[in-house]
Amino acid sequence: MNQIARTDKSILAPDALGPTVSIGEILVEIMAKTPGQGFLERLDMIGPFASGAPAIFIAQCARIGGAAGMIGAVGDDDFGRLNTARLQRDGADVSAISVDAEYPTGTAFVRYRMDGSRDFVYNIAHSAAARIGWTKAVEALVARAGHLHVMGTVLAMPGAWEIIERAAALIVERGGSISLDPNLRKELAVDGETAARFDRLIAISDLLLPSGDELERAAGVEGEDEAMNTLFEGGVGEVVLKRGAGGASFFASDGARVDAPAFMVEELDPTGAGDCFGGAYVACRRLGMSAADALRYANAAGARNVTFRGPMEGAATRAELDEFIRNTPTRSD
Ligand code: ATP
Ligand code: MG
Repeated sequence: MNQIARTDKSILAPDALGPTVSIGEILVEIMAKTPGQGFLERLDMIGPFASGAPAIFIAQCARIGGAAGMIGAVGDDDFGRLNTARLQRDGADVSAISVDAEYPTGTAFVRYRMDGSRDFVYNIAHSAAARIGWTKAVEALVARAGHLHVMGTVLAMPGAWEIIERAAALIVERGGSISLDPNLRKELAVDGETAARFDRLIAISDLLLPSGDELERAAGVEGEDEAMNTLFEGGVGEVVLKRGAGGASFFASDGARVDAPAFMVEELDPTGAGDCFGGAYVACRRLGMSAADALRYANAAGARNVTFRGPMEGAATRAELDEFIRNTPTRSD
């Protein structure tokens, strides 16, 4: 915390200290095969796909070779088993995913509209996904963790806050680091207690991974430069701004900046790009890469994922990303 960030050596704790741990919703996604408005007619659907932003993040983190662990909950059903098996196959530690005997695994039905926006029918709040708490298994994972990644979406889950606070304290105590993807969906009202918690998250974060207007919302001021200054003054060390098809930029508290172009791909399903980007970036930095190298892999991870249908079907290994990078032009070429 509060170290001067640099482009070469990351302020994030090294991978060897212990796994990156992600907390939050584990879901299956079932998607309409055709774009249109909502679900008010009979539709062909495809799925179930393993999903949930914190789970997508950790799947990509593990696949690229970072030590990774997931804290979450699933139901005692096939949707839950599908998710747990998937994360395990990717190489993540699944010991802190609890199985809820009463509630089913969370679900998200999604249909894209013609303009790219999405209609959802969710069952998260009243599913196993939201019933997470501090357990012996969570404690054991956190006790050997080296980094905590938090998704802003988790603020909507009552049980998550206690885990985040306890995990953050323990991980920082052992020399670990913290990252935050604000992931502020417009549906999430950020006021009162949620706003206070969000501010507290920013205050304890070493790395912030906002996209679009989340940067200004996170800083509470307008303008990219002003927002960066406010965040750095508050103790954040690195900010990586995701710009969709515009690529991404790295900003360090010492004033350094690195811009990296996006790869040129045909977008089939944008869901999960930001989460794959984050998982790859955090893993690469913790594995010792420079900001420029980590940005290249993160941009590749996000871009490759949007070429696959399903929120984490494109999450890739380092070898797959190397091949993708070799074969895909960037928007600056
Ligand atoms: P999400 O909608 O999953 O929360 P996000 O808004 O957090 O995503 P984006 O900026 O949309 O994040 O995507 C993250 C990264 O993925 C981008 O910085 C870019 O590198 C890559 N990416 C996303 N969409 C595209 C695209 N259409 N073409 C190329 N790269 C893309
Ligand atoms: Mg996006």
